[in-house]
Amino acid sequence: TKDDVKSYLLRNAFVLFTVVAVILGVILGFSLRSYKMSYREVKYFSFPGELLMRMLQMLVLPLIVSSLVTGIAALDSKASGKMGVRAVVYYMSTTIIAVLIGIIIVVIIHPGKGTKENMHREGKIVQVTAADAFLDLIRNMFPPNLVEACFKQFKTNYEKKMFKVTVPSNDTSTVASIISNVSEAMETLTRMKEEIVPVPGSVNGVNALGLVVFSISFGLVIGSMREQGRALKEFFDSLNEAIMRLVALIMWYAPLGILFLIAGKIVEMEDMGVIGGQLAMYTVTVIIGLLIHAVIVLPLLYFLITRKNPWVFIGGLIQALVTALGTSSSSATLPVTFKCLEEINGVDKRVTRFVLPVGATINMDGTALYEALAAIFIAQVNNFDLNFGQIITISITATAASIGAAGIPQAGLVTMVIVLTSVGLPTDDITLIIAVDWFLDRLRTTTNVLGDSIGAGIVEHLSRHELKNKDAEMGNSVIEE
Ligand code: ASP
Repeated sequence: TKDDVKSYLLRNAFVLFTVVAVILGVILGFSLRSYKMSYREVKYFSFPGELLMRMLQMLVLPLIVSSLVTGIAALDSKASGKMGVRAVVYYMSTTIIAVLIGIIIVVIIHPGKGTKENMHREGKIVQVTAADAFLDLIRNMFPPNLVEACFKQFKTNYEKKMFKVTVPSNDTSTVASIISNVSEAMETLTRMKEEIVPVPGSVNGVNALGLVVFSISFGLVIGSMREQGRALKEFFDSLNEAIMRLVALIMWYAPLGILFLIAGKIVEMEDMGVIGGQLAMYTVTVIIGLLIHAVIVLPLLYFLITRKNPWVFIGGLIQALVTALGTSSSSATLPVTFKCLEEINGVDKRVTRFVLPVGATINMDGTALYEALAAIFIAQVNNFDLNFGQIITISITATAASIGAAGIPQAGLVTMVIVLTSVGLPTDDITLIIAVDWFLDRLRTTTNVLGDSIGAGIVEHLSRHELKNKDAEMGNSVIEE
């Protein structure tokens, strides 16, 4: 029909805009590099991108809460239990596969040949024990104050430093040079603030895990309340619907934002000169590992379980994947992931509402693969021979660290501390890989979002009987009414 054609064109126009935005962003970024912008100029230049980030983040919180509560309340506890088990089995198994791929690839390619003495370091690491990080993870599941959990649950590790400059009076040339030094120092400081690696659990953001746990419990309770729960159910339903409409508005702005996010990052990135041979090999190894997982394992799994064409499904996700690439945050991408899955791929809303917020918070295949691979790379540059038991330990802690990592930029680098301490590797050596992390982070975030989305497709397929039964039940009750 005419409406179908219209929506088809509109949809493809969006995908086209998004792809064009990425290409333009890369071209613009590289062509402006020779201009050598100062830190402040880069900030101004990437402002439209920063706005996109903020708009998306603004919606994440109400989206997580409203979608989980309505998604779960819409199912009976038996159906949601089954769906939950399927989702968790999928999350765990794909995460473990990802970890194994990471380990195998890094052992085969062995990017860490040679010593670390000539490798470049960046930033510094704050020591934290694995046990503390683990307890933090559990702690965060139960936020003592829900309202506070929606704001900043954590403090960053960064402390404001004050500069005190004593200027010899009447020497104007010194004054000028001091002023220029101070402003340079301030710029470096602002830069440091963003690059420094904070302690696990102290990322600058919202406690999504706590909200997820609360919303699931709340949804279960509302679902079991029948008539009495109706008002709340309708409230969250309509909240969810309203948020999704806001997402639709933001989607118009998204291509422009993505263009500037990407261009800004390219303008600002360090010259690749600091990246020595080992780090370059390491980068290639990570890319190969992520590609195997994203292009072979996940699509194959989707095909084997659903018998549908995975590439059509992945094609529908392009906007979400590009947003992940641009924002390096799977939480910020969540609104777009919802849109793509529900509107383009037609995945049942009862499934997306339930599994997507959980997936974006705990299921991170790319991060798990990365952490295992990076830990073994650090062992290699230290000429540290890992025995079988230690490799198992790395697999387990990398899985835990990926669950604990928040869906925000470079969170995976922070939870790496857990993996390294578990086998006695020097955590300071995280500084060896910081230089390339901004880039690898984007790739693993994209893999994370792909994993969540394919998970939603698979869980929907596996839960089709429950969904149908529920539909029939609803149909009957409508007839009865
Ligand atoms: N940035 C990633 C994400 O949001 C997490 C990570 O650092 O690995 O999914």
